[in-house]
Amino acid sequence: MIEIGDLRFSYDEGDFSLEIPQLNVAHGETVAIVGPSGSGKTTLLNLIAGNATPQSGQITTNGYKISGLHDAARRDFRIANIGLVFQEFELLEYLNVLDNILLPYRINRTLVLDTSVRERAEMIAESVGIGDKLARYANQLSQGEKQRVAVIRALVVQPPLLLADEPTGNLDPLNKNRVLDILFQYADQNAATLVTVTHDHEVLHRFQRVIDFKDFCAHGAEQRLENIAGPM
Ligand code: ADP
Ligand code: MG
Repeated sequence: MIEIGDLRFSYDEGDFSLEIPQLNVAHGETVAIVGPSGSGKTTLLNLIAGNATPQSGQITTNGYKISGLHDAARRDFRIANIGLVFQEFELLEYLNVLDNILLPYRINRTLVLDTSVRERAEMIAESVGIGDKLARYANQLSQGEKQRVAVIRALVVQPPLLLADEPTGNLDPLNKNRVLDILFQYADQNAATLVTVTHDHEVLHRFQRVIDFKDFCAHGAEQRLENIAGPM
């Protein structure tokens, strides 16, 4: 699902740089990414999603060499192929819950919003306990409800890849597990790939593999390769 080779990335500003000799994530694999703050975890997700472009090296996501796509094609690819979940939810305040969930269909011309999509959105919302809150606005929801809306929005286009950046960081234990249950259940039922950045060591056992950025940053390139390259 994800193939990275000889990747080098740095921002225009600042001296942070990321080097990944090789990293592969298989279709259907569930992977946790852990590591110190500032080590580049969010940067890696942005590279995989095509939000950032590497200076050199290759990234193939679901068979597409995303760094080779033009901006519009990359955006369309991302919305159709990748479900993104952030720690801060990123809901639009001026839209109600249902319209937040259906947002990908409003901003991507390759997705068609029809009755079956609406029904699917309502069904998922129902199954995670917010079916009765579809008409509410984001500021009328609890943290746990907001994050569930954000997760449903990521799932509604049925992407083969879910990228979640500390999706449980702002949640209490009950809601944390609820959100993880939704992500894992979706991955399981759809044979989707799940890559999640997390600080929470209590949940690592749920993932098939853990990639630790700590080793990754502290060592030279060859050692990084051993530390992060997992099963194909
Ligand atoms: P993590 O998610 O592991 O906490 P990030 O990937 O967010 O780390 O950031 C890695 C490094 O890149 C940090 O030192 C951060 O300050 C820097 N950084 C992040 N975004 C930018 C940006 N847009 N421009 C310059 N530097 C950035
Ligand atoms: Mg981060």
